[in-house]
Amino acid sequence: MPELPEVEITARRLDEALRGARIESVLAPGINALKSFDPPLSELAGREIVGVGRRGKHLLVHVSGELVLLIHLMSAGRLQLYGKRAGPRDRTSRLLVRLDSAPPGGMPDDAPSEGTSGRELRLREFGTRQAAWVKLLREDELEAEEVLATLGPEAWPDPPPLKELLAGARPLHKQLRDQRTIAGIGRSWVDEILWHARLSPYKRGGDLDEEERARLREAIVGVLGEALAHYEQAVALPIPDKLPMPLQVHRHEGEACPRCGDTLRAVHFEDYVIAYCPACQTEGRVLKDRRLSRLLK
Ligand SMILES: [Zn+2]
Repeated sequence: MPELPEVEITARRLDEALRGARIESVLAPGINALKSFDPPLSELAGREIVGVGRRGKHLLVHVSGELVLLIHLMSAGRLQLYGKRAGPRDRTSRLLVRLDSAPPGGMPDDAPSEGTSGRELRLREFGTRQAAWVKLLREDELEAEEVLATLGPEAWPDPPPLKELLAGARPLHKQLRDQRTIAGIGRSWVDEILWHARLSPYKRGGDLDEEERARLREAIVGVLGEALAHYEQAVALPIPDKLPMPLQVHRHEGEACPRCGDTLRAVHFEDYVIAYCPACQTEGRVLKDRRLSRLLK
């Protein structure tokens, strides 16, 4: 589940490795992965990658000639760099960007097998769903692109004050995951952030007092920043299939709270699970499921 720290480390590693790389060809074997048609992917052949960046949970591969690949990994995608080319039957591949060879020493794990020299940037997706997507845009179309145009301010490194952002009656865990409110946080890191801030996931954003807002902002910046510092040590190319997410609360229900020792709990909300510590976050109260399906059973 790549969120801001996972996408940011991917962008950093690829940026280091790919600046100046020349594109030989681009294929989109994933049915429906390519969500744009003009300019065509063939426009990329012969051009250079000028940098790799991030906006929210999206990756941006900037290419010479004012072009940019906008990539959303969704829940199960990875953008990985290999020292050789994928076989035609690699069913996880959604997009293959074939590149010139790495400069000497530029790629670990770089042992080109016969007939497949050159590097390959691969958008791969694990599981059965095809949800990850790609658009090839002109740089001047990027800001107006329908998804990017709706994104809120970046959650890291310096989000704006939360007072205006979080006004309203929606529960915090929902507000913080809403990319139009604040960009980069998803269902994994929201649990960690609220646990760090000692706030109930169901508390309404508009009900926070000034001290709670300050605590929450500090938790957002601190938790995402620490995750990134961890990845700086732990993540190398080609970018692993499974990123070593340093989570303490999310998916740790049933275990002891690392802060107070109370048992971490989980509550189902719509189609996902929120983990939290009752003693630290909800004054000891156990939260009730709000899934409609529960009521109908
Ligand atoms: Zn606790």
